[in-house]
Amino acid sequence: MREQTRVIHSIPTDPLTGAISVPIYQTSTFVQEAPGVNKGFDYSRTNNPTRQALEELIAVLEGGSNGFAFASGLAAIDSVVKTLQSGDEIVAIDDIYGGAFRLFSLVYAKFGINIKYVDTQDLELLESAITPATKLIWIESPTNPTLKISDIAAIAEIAHRYGALLGIDNTFATPASQKPLALGADIVIHSATKYLGGHSDLIAGLVVTKTVELGEKIKFIQNASGGILAPFDSWLVIRGIETLNLRMKQHAENAMAVALFLESHPKVLKVYYPGLPTHKNHDIAKRQQRYFGGIVTFSLKNDTSEAATLLVTSTQYFKLAESLGGVKSLCCHPATMTHKSIPAEMRQQSGITDSLIRLSVGLEDADDLIQDLQSALEKV
Ligand SMILES: *Cc1c(COP(=O)(O)O)cnc(C)c1O
Repeated sequence: MREQTRVIHSIPTDPLTGAISVPIYQTSTFVQEAPGVNKGFDYSRTNNPTRQALEELIAVLEGGSNGFAFASGLAAIDSVVKTLQSGDEIVAIDDIYGGAFRLFSLVYAKFGINIKYVDTQDLELLESAITPATKLIWIESPTNPTLKISDIAAIAEIAHRYGALLGIDNTFATPASQKPLALGADIVIHSATKYLGGHSDLIAGLVVTKTVELGEKIKFIQNASGGILAPFDSWLVIRGIETLNLRMKQHAENAMAVALFLESHPKVLKVYYPGLPTHKNHDIAKRQQRYFGGIVTFSLKNDTSEAATLLVTSTQYFKLAESLGGVKSLCCHPATMTHKSIPAEMRQQSGITDSLIRLSVGLEDADDLIQDLQSALEKV
């Protein structure tokens, strides 16, 4: 069975009724025949059949041992941090998702978990940041919003050499494009709010572990902390995943067209897209990704917040909003929106300049999207 067939047929038909769509088990509890004698379910925080169908599906998709569904991407990341102990250290990518930065530095640092941020594109720099306390290396590839690419296989090798685990936020690439576990990572998380859900209609997070041993730890935390995904939202994510591959293919095709247009525009200073041969780590992206994704970021020669603001309020199809990965195109200004919780100095260091604009290229006709950007750029 080839991959796409395996994914679609990993979604079970209902053994009870034959329903081809996974039933939404909107129930808190399950009747027991005798104390402790049940049909594999006793309470929906612990386990729910609809959520379980999603959890098994994402494990298949990422090629892992176990999958877990949480109420948000951050709740998923939170469960991974909770496998650590006070005194442990995380070495994380510097161009990190703003919410992960807030969670690591403003929540977990005060519980005695130390966090270091480095540019994980530079393997020597990464290696020099590792100490005996380092238990987790945390990366995103491509990153948000400057689409930095880190070499996942090389970093996994380094992590394991020092007895640390490699965790990766695979939200931007999705498993349709990139399989971090096969490249050596130990844990994958997703904000399923983005491409996996795919329709801008839910908040959800997923974790996939490489080994059953790690899976048991996350399972314990999921049940103990309780940040689970509801049955209806689990069903929506399953439905999103059914068309994931098709959508990612088209997102990438549209994004490439938009990136090439922007690169040729006289008012544009720099375009970030892993599919462009001018991208710093295009070769690594080509090696570890099947598609280059739907996010394109660019900066203006007029490198001011004002110019960027004028542009993102002038587009018609690119709606100004946080988030990404839906059918409709979105644009955002990271410096004042998604990344405002990151200190200005660290923001500048990771390339989030004042005019930087992030596009989530949707599934409209690419020619309309290009025209939209063309007329917005005329106003700047
Ligand atoms: C959105 C996002 C998150 C957080 O996910 P939520 O579902 O909003 O909690 C984490 N990582 C990346 C890369 C994201 O884009």
